[in-house]
Amino acid sequence: MDVKSYIDSNKELFIKVNDQIWEYAETRFEEYKSAELLEQVLAEHGFTVKKNLAGMETAFVAEYGSGQPVIGILGEYDALSGLSQQGGSIVRQPIVDGAPGHGCGHNTLGAASLAAAMAVKEYIEQSKTAGTIRYYGCPGEEGGSGKAYMAREGLFDDLDAALTWHPGGYNAIMALSSLANFQVYYRFHGRAAHAAGAPHLGRSALDAVELMSVGVNYLREHVIPEARMHYAITNTGGTAPNVVQAEAEVLYLMRAPELSYVQEMYQRINDIARGAALMTGTQVEIIFDKACSNYIPNHTLGKVLLKYLTEVVAENSYTPQEISFADKIGQTFPKSGSALKKFLPLLDEEGQALIREIEKSRLSNKTLPYLKMASPMAGSTDVGDVSWVTPTAQFAAACCALGTPGHSWQFVSQNNTSIAHKGLLIAGKTLALSAIELFENPQILKEAKTELLKQLNGQKYTCPIPKEVNPAVHR
Ligand SMILES: [Zn+2]
Repeated sequence: MDVKSYIDSNKELFIKVNDQIWEYAETRFEEYKSAELLEQVLAEHGFTVKKNLAGMETAFVAEYGSGQPVIGILGEYDALSGLSQQGGSIVRQPIVDGAPGHGCGHNTLGAASLAAAMAVKEYIEQSKTAGTIRYYGCPGEEGGSGKAYMAREGLFDDLDAALTWHPGGYNAIMALSSLANFQVYYRFHGRAAHAAGAPHLGRSALDAVELMSVGVNYLREHVIPEARMHYAITNTGGTAPNVVQAEAEVLYLMRAPELSYVQEMYQRINDIARGAALMTGTQVEIIFDKACSNYIPNHTLGKVLLKYLTEVVAENSYTPQEISFADKIGQTFPKSGSALKKFLPLLDEEGQALIREIEKSRLSNKTLPYLKMASPMAGSTDVGDVSWVTPTAQFAAACCALGTPGHSWQFVSQNNTSIAHKGLLIAGKTLALSAIELFENPQILKEAKTELLKQLNGQKYTCPIPKEVNPAVHR
């Protein structure tokens, strides 16, 4: 079966799904229409769909085939709040002020994984191959860790491998780890009073939030350099300065390369919060929101992805209009250099020349060589939890101009253009061709499994989210 022509001849459908989910732009655990669209297309194409999984209405698994091996393709479809933006525009131009937008390209992520799952299904059907293909509908990647809840429920346990990808500004295998994280609310309860008339009767919850920030800012000097602590004040206790704030809340996101280190940071930050409560005569409530594990890249699977990614990318081409649009939108953010500079020390002369070649243009039909990075990427992903349970590999495919910042309006602006559509086809074909190779060559799956066991070195996956914590839109 010719996977590439199957995907090309059905591209109108995949592009329609891409653009429709882009328009829906639904955020964490509220991706009702987006999940429904994907479920519907999969069901229409012969997949058995199980919905409403692991406590999330928008999580689903669609399956075709039977028996071993079982290969999973992960799809996402959640948007980011506040990033509403006209498509194909080179200026900041929200469609609806303050509304969400697809600033991480998860619309394309979900649509390309759909294309891949459908192509693999076609292959199983036509070749009468034994085995199962699964599309995992994974909600709430942004700030929700949907996959961690799915992993806690054991939904990935019987997989032989999981493959996924992410839209980006260039084509490369993501052969590097990511940061584990915890997200925790600190809710302070004080006592209201007239700020001038009876300040001695008030106990300020907002003071506690501020003192907690001071404490955490001192902590920054005494953690490992890779550790990150970000916060957002989610309740300032009101807008009246003449009322002592009785309630205030701050949300912390803490990250480090190892889960055990995040656990340690969490305990230290809890101490700071308790200290701030003690100093202000308030009470603190610590509310665990979500967590995810660090990502363990599987290089055996990563090399299979690289073979097909390189092949498929080389067959792609851009029109002069696309190149000119990418150049224009490229002028709205700093020069691209930094996106690829980090790879230079890992490359020989030939590799460095390739980077310089890619950097000449905002759109390129080149793929980076396989790079095993020693340090983790500066972000987190709930693909991490899947990678502890089953051999997992992922790649980035170019869906926007080189250097486009993640989570930006520029990213949203490009995600329903023909540039993203080309990225969708590249990713769909790469995933499908790689998955088929795994069906045909069980030895690779065996090696991938051995590699994972070696990396785990006796450790077993435990979901970092406590048992009593359930997925929630807001807390
Ligand atoms: Zn993302």
